[in-house]
Amino acid sequence: SGRHRVAVIGGGSAGISVAARLRRAGVSDITLVEPSDTHWYQPLWTLVGGGQAPLHTSRRPEGAVIPDGVRWVRRRALAVDPDARTVTLSGGAELTYEHLVMAPGLQLDWDGVPGLAEAVGHGGVSSNYAPEYAPRTWDLIRRTRSGTAVFTHPATPLKCGGAPQKIAYLAADHWRKQKVLDRMRIILVLPDPVMFKVPAWSQVLEKVAARYGIEVRLRSEVTAVDGEAREVTITDHATGAKETIGYDLLHAVPPQSAPDWVKSGPLADPASPQGFVAADKHTLRHPHHGDVFAIGDVANLPTSKTGAAVRKQAPVVAANLLDVMSGRAPSRRYDGYTSCPLVTARDRMLLAEFDYDLKPAPSFPLIDTFKERRDMWVFKRYILPPVYWRGMLTGRL
Ligand code: FAD
Repeated sequence: SGRHRVAVIGGGSAGISVAARLRRAGVSDITLVEPSDTHWYQPLWTLVGGGQAPLHTSRRPEGAVIPDGVRWVRRRALAVDPDARTVTLSGGAELTYEHLVMAPGLQLDWDGVPGLAEAVGHGGVSSNYAPEYAPRTWDLIRRTRSGTAVFTHPATPLKCGGAPQKIAYLAADHWRKQKVLDRMRIILVLPDPVMFKVPAWSQVLEKVAARYGIEVRLRSEVTAVDGEAREVTITDHATGAKETIGYDLLHAVPPQSAPDWVKSGPLADPASPQGFVAADKHTLRHPHHGDVFAIGDVANLPTSKTGAAVRKQAPVVAANLLDVMSGRAPSRRYDGYTSCPLVTARDRMLLAEFDYDLKPAPSFPLIDTFKERRDMWVFKRYILPPVYWRGMLTGRL
């Protein structure tokens, strides 16, 4: 009985990392709300779609990653009342808390593009953004030996901003190796005026796209999908022009937002069109509810949403929560660090690491990460997954 000291909503990368750190710091009463029985290491899905890793390597039973001593409530959070300090759960129960960590991730809005929800998973359409489709991406790439391939990127904030283009490069490099690249028309549709937010990496990516003969449509978005006719509508936001293009393969990345219940709830940032949770960008504490912290994809922070960002946010949230629990002001600051491992070929990668100021923030200062590197590809495929499972999720790294 009584209030739970800390409730964590979401047992993904962020929720588990924070719970593990709080346990290590000796917090005894932690409740984790997570409906799923599976934990996913999503960064591998790019390689699953590219035919470079089997799906099962990205999966662990949820129970195996929940730290000892953390109480698991296998329910979905439906609403938070930050004044009463309660969480309403699926099934009707209510949970009370003293401190709350919001970590339910983001929502994929397949309905956000007309026709996409109906088309994905059928015909030539796939997406690495969902585990049920990622293996299909590779089936399609392998089967396609001529024709048109379209790769989309939504105009909303998204998790792993590089993922929509990485799969285009993996596909193109496969077709190059198969000697059919000249029979492929590859179109990469991007909403921004540049290929990447940080100019130094953007310039490298322009060369990568040119090398494969990829047609890059900047300031553009796929605004409709017709799965029956196998056509997409591409809208050029600079001119307003719309063009309909037939595809043989479509890799779609859906618009993304905070989960609906978060968007319509009292913790959402009114300044965020997608309803992400308000959080001080340095302390990660909610500006109006001092006993609430937000972390991971659900937090409205002006940086790219990645697991790498979560790795730097988790120690900040854990330390600041401990401060608040003992009546002190939050003492740790997050600098916006995020990283995007830009896979540019089947054996090459660019590691883009930067902070709120878009300043490069290299973990390996002695190597040139503005060059496509084989060692970085090996790092992503073989080093990062065990670092994630054994280091990050256990609160050690
Ligand atoms: P998640 O890990 O998504 O976890 C959210 C959890 O909340 C889930 O377990 C979910 O079941 C649970 N949940 C949802 N709703 C509720 C609810 N109502 N109540 C309770 N629980 C709920 N990051 C990188 O750093 N590098 C990469 O190379 C990279 N590549 C990526 C490629 C792809 C294709 C994708 C999809 C993502 C990639 N990412 C990458 C991003 C990374 O996976 C996310 O940023 C990271 O998982 C965010 O952690 P999170 O805990 O906020 O969300």
